Amino acid sequence: MTEEEHQRRPETPSDRIRKAFEVEFERFSDSPGSLPEGEKELRELQELRIKFLGKKSELAAQKKMIGSVDPKRRRDFALIFQNLEQDITRRIDEKELRLRTFVLRVRTERESIDVTMPGRRPRPGHLHPITLMRERIEDIFVSLGYAVEDDREIETDFYNFDALNIPEGHPARDPQDTFYTTDGFALRSQTSTVQIHAMQRRGAPIRMIAPGRVFRRDTPDPTHNPMFFQVEGLCVDRGITMAHLKGTLAELVHRLFGPETRTRFRPSYFPFTEPSAEVDYSCFNCGGKGCRICKGSGWIELGGSGMVHPNVLRAANVNPEEFTGFAFGLGIDRTCARIYQLDDIRLLFENDVRFLEQFR
Ligand SMILES: [Zn+2]
Repeated sequence: MTEEEHQRRPETPSDRIRKAFEVEFERFSDSPGSLPEGEKELRELQELRIKFLGKKSELAAQKKMIGSVDPKRRRDFALIFQNLEQDITRRIDEKELRLRTFVLRVRTERESIDVTMPGRRPRPGHLHPITLMRERIEDIFVSLGYAVEDDREIETDFYNFDALNIPEGHPARDPQDTFYTTDGFALRSQTSTVQIHAMQRRGAPIRMIAPGRVFRRDTPDPTHNPMFFQVEGLCVDRGITMAHLKGTLAELVHRLFGPETRTRFRPSYFPFTEPSAEVDYSCFNCGGKGCRICKGSGWIELGGSGMVHPNVLRAANVNPEEFTGFAFGLGIDRTCARIYQLDDIRLLFENDVRFLEQFR
């Protein structure tokens, strides 16, 4: 068919369908400008497929007419519409594949992690000031060859009082001062109880510290709390003297507050030591001149100490004729409050994050 003949040939239904399809198909692009555009084109392509290939399409209507076509022309007629259907199907399929690939690629890119974006910073936790203080003290004693012991917080009268040479009728046994359970157990009022457990378990010689919680029936105020933390220290061996006690505590305050820190021992009385002494150290802030932290005295109280009473050694099955030892106890939270200049020791137990965050 020449061009002239073609132009003269009347438009067939097949030509009409093809032309209509070309007009509508033209607006579909190979690379849409955005994900929403791509998704919109995909939806419209499905509508186009139904319009030109669906049951109600003109193509379907033409194919139904094949029975009424002259049998001689029937084969050509069928072939024309078969080719047309294949053409339209192939072109829609190709376009759909391109659009789907585009949409999938853009979606994947959007959902993948942008490594250049600043991350959300996790809020790191940190140790409680009492724990920091306890660990500093533990490190010092471990380096001096001491073991760190832990033990129960609920005790029998034997461990809390009898074994520590605290006689019946002593004020410390008064229910006004000590918490008792309904069946007669006591919440330990000092970490000295661990001395007895440790000596019973391991015998002498022994060097140990026992940091832990203790309980006393105090009304909470800026310098008291019914639950607080102590570190107990015990050194028992042949030939241990008061000089070893002084040297050990001097070493402790040197490492905690600096080598220029001095110690002072004041005679005192505790049932479980003889002789007994209160220990002070020269103020880390003013060096002994007097300031607000040391209340003008130049000295800060560290705790109690002394030579282990022979009755305590006996209670733990250690022979006082062969062994002697020293013991000491100091308040972790009290020392902590001094160092950080806290006006109220209760701040350490309230777990207010605004307060604790300062120790990061
Ligand atoms: Zn001072």
